[in-house]
Amino acid sequence: MTASLIDGKARAARLRAGVADAVAKLRKNEGLRPGLAVVLVGEDPASQVYVTNKVRQTEECGMRSIEHRLPADTRQADLLALVHKLNADQGVDGILVQMPLPAQIDTDEVVLAIDPAKDVDGLHPQNAGRIVLGRSGLVPCTPQGCVILAKEALGGDLTGLDAVVLGRSILVGKPVALLLQNENCTVTMAHSRSRDVEALCRRADLLVAAVGRPEMVRGSWIKPGATVIDVGINRIPAPERGEGKTRLVGDVAFAEAREIAGAITPVPGGVGPMTIACLLANTVVAACRRRKLPVPQM
Ligand code: NAP
Repeated sequence: MTASLIDGKARAARLRAGVADAVAKLRKNEGLRPGLAVVLVGEDPASQVYVTNKVRQTEECGMRSIEHRLPADTRQADLLALVHKLNADQGVDGILVQMPLPAQIDTDEVVLAIDPAKDVDGLHPQNAGRIVLGRSGLVPCTPQGCVILAKEALGGDLTGLDAVVLGRSILVGKPVALLLQNENCTVTMAHSRSRDVEALCRRADLLVAAVGRPEMVRGSWIKPGATVIDVGINRIPAPERGEGKTRLVGDVAFAEAREIAGAITPVPGGVGPMTIACLLANTVVAACRRRKLPVPQM
């Protein structure tokens, strides 16, 4: 069997179009233009690329982008003061502080300072708690993207599936597992201390790999016909492309897995593009909920 590809780029483009449509209606009917504030501290090259993309896509969807670039030696108190100012600004609906933050900053304290109603990254304990309770909050973007892609591949309903989530990080594995439970899957979480990870994976109708280990999941670990969502983004040497060249691979050995799975996300072009699209959607959700407006379908 050759698995069908779950096209994250195309799904993300559709979600962005839905966001742009929702924003156009909010502007026309409510005079509301949602605003997303992005805060970047320091000059980490990867973070700069992410922030530039977030700003561009926010504007392309018709929303207001508010950008704050602070020097790498910014003091904790100054960053917190900016977060409080953005919390109080009625024109700001979403606040995203780009991670990782420099060593002198206490990341947990910054996340705690963000108004949960504007926490479009879904990292505040109040939003994390809402997922545990199965209530609607702001859902973290990459986990949300994983669930949307799984539903895309499986006709919209995940009820009753045996799902295995490989990885239990706060950013990805844990929220994905809870979201899948809320979608009525029977969920197993596996991690570095799990016994026989390979056998656990082989039970999965739906396998989400988020371990950060290049191509760890082999084709033989996959149940025939399973749906595979590969969250991993790993850069490995690619001498075949020339000296010093690299390429991106996921946590799943794609070529092998594609022969066994029913559907699979590629890397790149799978979960990655969904993350920013979900951030934009969360900004619209936050803008509507804060004003007690109905949240549009996107
Ligand atoms: P992380 O914080 O390093 O967590 C990795 C998880 O994998 C941990 O729970 C760890 O278990 C588990 N693990 C590590 N080695 C394992 C092994 N040999 N067997 C079983 N479990 C193992 O990473 P993360 O932030 O969740 O990210 C995971 C991957 O997703 C990375 O490649 C990252 O780049 C990628 N990512 C992609 C996006 C996107 O937009 N597509 C967003 C975020 C992350 P323990 O808890 O026991 O240590």
